[in-house]
Amino acid sequence: MASVSVWTRLKPALPPLQGLLRTYSVSSSNEGNHYDLVVVGGGIVGLATAREVATRYPNMKIAVAEKENDVALHQSGHNSGVLHTGIYYTSGSLKARLCVRGIKMAYEYCDKKRIPYRKCGKLIVAVENEEVPRLQSLYDRGRENGVADLRLLDSTQLRDIEPHCRVRERAWIL
Ligand SMILES: Cc1cc2nc3c(=O)[nH]c(=O)nc-3n(C[C@H](O)[C@H](O)[C@H](O)COP(=O)(O)OP(=O)(O)OC[C@H]3O[C@@H](n4cnc5c(N)ncnc54)[C@H](O)[C@@H]3O)c2cc1C
Repeated sequence: MASVSVWTRLKPALPPLQGLLRTYSVSSSNEGNHYDLVVVGGGIVGLATAREVATRYPNMKIAVAEKENDVALHQSGHNSGVLHTGIYYTSGSLKARLCVRGIKMAYEYCDKKRIPYRKCGKLIVAVENEEVPRLQSLYDRGRENGVADLRLLDSTQLRDIEPHCRVRERAWIL
C-alpha cells in the first residue's frame, strides 16, 4: 500500500513537510514536497479517505493535513463510540446500506488489527402502548435493512439482559 504522510501542527512529523501545514502549499517544483493528493482534515473521514485511496492506488503519494497537534481531536475523538446498525434509516437508503456494510467491515478491521471492542448490543424498548407499533415498524425496517442479529425478546429474555427494564415490548440488536 502507498504510505500516507500525516502533517499535524506541532508534531514535526514528517520532514520536509514541517511548516507547510498552515498554508498547504505543495510545490511540484520541489521533489520532496510533491504529493498526488492532500486530504485536509485528520478526522475519521479524512483518514479513512486517505487510507482507501492509498489502498486503491498504491503508487500515489498522499498526505493528510491536520490543523491540530494530533489526529482525531474533534468529533472523531469525542463521540459515543457506537457502531450504528442502520436500524433507524429508510430501507434501501444509502445510509442504511452503508451502515450495515460498515459495521461488518469495522468488526473485521478491529479483529484483524486486534483493536478491542465490546459487543454489548442495544435494547430498544417501548415503554408506552402507543410506542409498540413504532417498535414493530423499527423491527420490520431493521429486517429489511439486513441488520444482523436483530430479534424481538419476550419478558423473560429481557429480564436476563436488563432486569430493571419495565416495558411493553422490546427489541434487541447485537
Ligand atoms: C456527540 C456526538 C456523538 C457521536 N456519536 C457517534 C457514534 O457513537 N458513532 C458514530 O459512528 N458517530 C458518532 N458521531 C458522529 C461522528 O463522530 C462524526 O460523524 C465523525 O467523527 C465526523 O468525522 P469527520 O472526520 O468528518 O470530522 P472531525 O472528526 O471533526 O474531523 C475533521 C478534522 O478536520 C480538521 N480541520 C478542520 N479544518 C481544517 C483545516 N482548515 N486545515 C486542517 N485541518 C482542518 C479538524 O481539526 C478535525 O481534526 C457523534 C457525533 C457527536 C457530535
